[in-house]
This record gives sequence, C-alpha cells and structure tokens, in this order.
Amino acid sequence: MTKRLSDLLRVPAGPVSLDSFDARATPGMRGGKSAGRKRLEKLADPVAELQERLYAESRVGGTRSILLVLQGMDTSGKSGTIKHCVGLLDPQGVGIAAFKAPTAAERRHDFLWRIERKSPQPGMVQIFDRSHYEDVVVVKVHALAAKAEITRRYRAINDFEHRLTDSGTRIVKCFLHISKKTQRDRLKARLDDPTKRWKFNPNDIDERSLWPDYQRAYEIALGRCSTAHAPWYVIPSDRKWYRNWAVTTLLLEHLSDLDPEWPQPDFDVEEQRARLLAS
Ligand code: AMP
Ligand code: MG
Repeated sequence: MTKRLSDLLRVPAGPVSLDSFDARATPGMRGGKSAGRKRLEKLADPVAELQERLYAESRVGGTRSILLVLQGMDTSGKSGTIKHCVGLLDPQGVGIAAFKAPTAAERRHDFLWRIERKSPQPGMVQIFDRSHYEDVVVVKVHALAAKAEITRRYRAINDFEHRLTDSGTRIVKCFLHISKKTQRDRLKARLDDPTKRWKFNPNDIDERSLWPDYQRAYEIALGRCSTAHAPWYVIPSDRKWYRNWAVTTLLLEHLSDLDPEWPQPDFDVEEQRARLLAS
C-alpha cells in the first residue's frame, strides 16, 4: 500500500528546521507538471462527493466539519490554493475567513475571540486564509506582544484546537513553504504584470527583509503546535501544481477518514414513490 500524503508531509516530532524541507520537492508525486495537473483533476469527483456527504450528514444532526488552515509567507499561494482546491467543492458547503491585522475592536478581546467566531459550522469545510498562527508569527517577528504572552498563546492554541477536534472538527494545517528566491520571482511578477499589481503592497518588501525571523517564528510555531490531534503539514510550494495537488490530497484523505455517510431517509421510499406516481 502506498503511503498516505498526510504521513509524508506531517511535521516530524522534535525541533523543526525549515531549511531541511526543499520547497521544490514533490513528495508522493510521480511525474511533473502535466502529470500533477491530471492527478488533481482526478481528485475533483471524489473530494466533491465526500464533501457533499459531510454536508448531508449535518442536515440530519451530524456535527462534524473540516477546518483547513493556510499559512505561509507572502506569495506562498494561499489564494491560489483556495481557487484551485477549494474551487472543486460545492460553495454551499464551504466557508472562507481571511484574517488581517486585527481591528481596534478585535484587539480588545483575547486573540482567539475572532478565530472562534469563524470556526466551522457542522458539515462545513471552513478555510482560514491566515489564522490564529499570525498571533504567534507576525506578532513574534514584530514583538507586538510580550514574550510571556506569546508563550501563553502556543498553549492556548493547542487547547483551542484540542477542543475543536474533540467536538468533531478535523483540522488540516498547511504551511505553504516557498523559497526566498521564489518569493522574489512572484513579487516581481506582481510588479511586471499590470493585472497583478493590485496584489502588491510596498510593505511586502519590508516584510521580506525579515525572512529569517519569519522562518524562525514559523519553526517554533510548527514545532510547538504540531500535535497528535492537529498536526502541521509542510507543503513544498515553489511548484504551484504540486501545492494544489498536495493540499487537495490532504483534504481528500481527511474527508475519507471521516467517511461521512449519506443520511438514511426518514420516510418509506416505496410509499412515497407510489404516492408520487399516483399524483
Ligand atoms: P494579506 O494576507 O497579504 O492581505 O495580508 C494580511 C496582513 O495581515 C499580513 O501582513 C498579516 O501578517 C497581517 N495579520 C494577520 N493577522 C494578524 C495579527 N493577528 N496580528 C498582526 N498582523 C496580522
Ligand atoms: Mg499580501
């Protein structure tokens, strides 16, 4: 039996060194871009069916759900992943929450307040485009909170995620890992192409100059918050086609684990068929 991608990409126990993960690697994939794209196409039907089953199950009282967390440096492909993977799903069963710098109102609450409010509803696949991990990554890099508070947050995150998984949410946390060179190429493309300039923010270059600090902050967050109930996956993301296939495959594997069932009708099918035909 071939190994599950979840096993190949899960962050191993112990200290994390992002340098040891090749951002151009393609674990679990045989062949290149065109093979990868074909394999992604083949996932569309199974992933859509499992999602519909999850949604259907919630209509008859099921409480299970999926939370897909996407984190990564600027240009790592959070939006592209949403478009290509999540685009395969029925929009009715999908929610997307994007987390920017907290507003003044949000800052008056604990960091998890705005996160909890966007946690998945039963039957839904909820996507976090950035997440509570910003509260230990960008916050650490820019020293936006005291050290002791950041330390408290790792534990608070693990407790929060444990509560979610206990109550039926499967958490799939993907770190979209790109190289610094790929980020330069993608930022340059945003400047070169007039249709991409809207995605560029001059501040992206300031943040880029803090690359080692971000990598270090991610290593700590991935190390401390990759737990048995909510592991982190490092997705090599220099190749977009691999990234899209990998995240979709993880989603499929987790949906398959949940194995939601089509609800049994609470009426007699034959009786209803007879009534319909007589009507
Ligand atoms: P983007 O995803 O490119 O639109 O950028 C959103 C920005 O919001 C990024 O620079 C994030 O680092 C920032 N951000 C998100 N969450 C937080 C947070 N909790 N504290 C500070 N900045 C944040
Ligand atoms: Mg940005």
